[in-house]
Amino acid sequence: METIIINEERLKSTFIELVSVPCPSGDEKEEAALLAEKLKALGIEPQIDDAGEKCGGTTGNVWGFVKGNVPGAVRLFYEAHMDSVAPTTGTKVVEKDGVLYSDGTTTLGGDDKSGIAAVLEAVQCILENDLPHGDIQVCFTIGEETGSNGVRFMDKEMIQADVGYCMDCGGHPGAIFNASPKAINVKLTVHGKTAHAGLEPEKGINAIMLAAEALHALPAYGRLDEQTTLSVDMIGGGLASNIVPDACEVIVDMRCPDEARLERLKNETVAIFCNAAEAKGGTVTVEVKDVAPGVNLNTEHAAVKLAATAAAKLNFPVSTGFTGGCSDANFLCGMGLPTVLLATGMDKIHTTEERLALDDLNNAARWVLGITEEAAAGKA
Ligand SMILES: [Zn+2]
Repeated sequence: METIIINEERLKSTFIELVSVPCPSGDEKEEAALLAEKLKALGIEPQIDDAGEKCGGTTGNVWGFVKGNVPGAVRLFYEAHMDSVAPTTGTKVVEKDGVLYSDGTTTLGGDDKSGIAAVLEAVQCILENDLPHGDIQVCFTIGEETGSNGVRFMDKEMIQADVGYCMDCGGHPGAIFNASPKAINVKLTVHGKTAHAGLEPEKGINAIMLAAEALHALPAYGRLDEQTTLSVDMIGGGLASNIVPDACEVIVDMRCPDEARLERLKNETVAIFCNAAEAKGGTVTVEVKDVAPGVNLNTEHAAVKLAATAAAKLNFPVSTGFTGGCSDANFLCGMGLPTVLLATGMDKIHTTEERLALDDLNNAARWVLGITEEAAAGKA
């Protein structure tokens, strides 16, 4: 396979152009317009969806589609988010020893314009060099930093791909994150019985004390294992300081990429509450709220294998693993698109010291190119 050289200068200037445009979460319209222009310049008809209207933003997600020239190739979905965390408007890029920084007054915006710039450069290389490739869908989303609004409000029917790559993780290219927790909130309401606290407390059932007993009976909290957490985060109850409380609400946050493990953890926690409450005449009601779906693809999954093989061929240090963070990848997985996170080199994100090494940015683009070549290899 001949080696296609990405255009490093062009990639750097694309990145700088992208971060120079204001794009706080919820107001990405200038960035979206710029990206639509860039796709058009590549001969790709951009589409901006109505996710912004649905979530109160100024624009929607920007989509592009490149029809494959290799039938039967794995259909790829490259995704990165447009918005950056504050302070983000007015970014001026400073380069020092091959590393890009802001001037210290804003974030750099490498989170996540590094992903967008890498994808644009790779797609341009593919088209310029007329490389064999399968279908490629690109999607640049809004509102990731405020709860993945772009993905949560997108029409999943628009996705036409077999595997997804969310270009939105720190670490050097070659690092693949194939597991990220599913998160749920479990609201446990312990019910007791009111009574006058001074005159006849024995006629009451103290819901707060029953909840306390249940909490005390939990075998562990905080980090339960490398990938699983349980945290008791809110508690409330009681009516007045002279009434035995008849209800106490406890909200427990639980996270684990393995849905079956999470389900067991939830059931065990509920059982502990029920046992504690029922032993003293109380009851428990349970409400479960899904916070975010998980990412949980095994290393044999095509999404992981394509990325790992491509990275190995590029001599990148290949790793797979777990990230505790929640991103667009979680919600894409929840919509049925198996998606992993790829490292782009973004570093010290969400701070004004954010940095991005140009080597990493270049390698991120090479990686996208490599994955695309790999998906078409053997099918051409
Ligand atoms: Zn991000």
